[in-house]
Amino acid sequence: MRDIPGAWHRTVSGAGLVGADGAIRPTIFAEMSALAAETGAINLGQGFPDEDGPRAVLEAAREAIANGVNQYPPGRGMPDLLAAIAEHQERFYGLRLDPARHVLVTAGATEALAASLLALTGSPDDEVVVFEPFYDSYAAVVALAGARLVTVPLRWPRFQPDLDELRRAVSDRTRVIVVNDPHNPTGAILTDEVRTEIVRLAERHGAIIVTDEVYEHLVFESPHVPIATLPGAWERTLTISSAGKTFSTTGWKIGWVSGPEDLVSAVLAVKQFLTYVNGSPFQPAIAVGLRLGDEFFRQISETLRRKRDLLGDGLRAAGFAVSVPAGSYFTVADAGGLGATDASAFCRELPARAGVVAIPLTAFTTPERRAEYAPLVRFAACKRVEVLSEAASRLAAAR
Ligand code: PMP
Ligand code: GLN
Repeated sequence: MRDIPGAWHRTVSGAGLVGADGAIRPTIFAEMSALAAETGAINLGQGFPDEDGPRAVLEAAREAIANGVNQYPPGRGMPDLLAAIAEHQERFYGLRLDPARHVLVTAGATEALAASLLALTGSPDDEVVVFEPFYDSYAAVVALAGARLVTVPLRWPRFQPDLDELRRAVSDRTRVIVVNDPHNPTGAILTDEVRTEIVRLAERHGAIIVTDEVYEHLVFESPHVPIATLPGAWERTLTISSAGKTFSTTGWKIGWVSGPEDLVSAVLAVKQFLTYVNGSPFQPAIAVGLRLGDEFFRQISETLRRKRDLLGDGLRAAGFAVSVPAGSYFTVADAGGLGATDASAFCRELPARAGVVAIPLTAFTTPERRAEYAPLVRFAACKRVEVLSEAASRLAAAR
């Protein structure tokens, strides 16, 4: 393979996506879903639901297509969706936004994150603090932006950061602190103490907080708290979310970012040259979703909580130790009790051994910290109850 210099190479090799032979490796999600398809194993790897979301949302998209909503929407997003996002932030969190100035629609949370990090960083002296393990796109985008990744570990089994480690990671070089809460892959929800410290550190060092709240409605114990609602946080926070998880429409890629006008404008400046716009017929449909009644939002978290419990019980019965998640699609389990020391090898053998696919936590870590997470495996609970029960039986039988 030719040695192609530049951001492309820096990104893929920085994020570990190039193998020793120089070939590009697919993301862990693509690799594990392909393995599930090949072997017929139950896919508890990639986090996507195996059932459709609310009918009213699906119907609204069909109607929009039939009614000719098929051309470029406005650059910031359709006014009705911008308004629905602002209403949602006020209804659930008491945040009052001006839809015309404080909100931007993006191609999923992924583009919102990419555009935010590209807008806010740009040199190797710019540091981006993330909690580790982290969603895979963070390291790739930080590398694309040419900035430096600084990580703060979240450790088994509670996955809360140590405040001293957090304080040591943030400095005047920190441009951005990325906060994924509820957290993928661990399902952890940050404590109030941690959130408050993040805001204090950001203020003290002049950093911007970029949050990834795509699991905001998939919480099991207490209502979600956006960092932007903390005292002093709003003016330095970009809040990102997406429709994929809440409405089981992961393929639609409708996301959004909200925050103070100057920060949102900086993100828009970059975003307009990434996708420009996307998903015109899906935008009014997600506006319908965001305005669904409280019962819908109560029921999605309740349903997923039951699935989390079913999955957790199944994993314990199969010999795993389980970290009980407070939110998100995911449960992290320790396979050490089953004799596994390397979850990466364990997960590659699991389809043949048990007919189940899962993801090793090392897929979400930097190479330097891989050893700390070596026996840990992420399982997705966002599947039908019968699928989770069958997976549990298979894992128990393979013990
Ligand atoms: N952030 C986290 C934590 C995720 O788990 C995901 C995907 N599931 C994304 C971002 C990407 O969201 P989207 O599909 O809206 O781009
Ligand atoms: N967010 C999903 C997960 O963590 C998958 C996203 C993807 O495939 N890029 O499993």
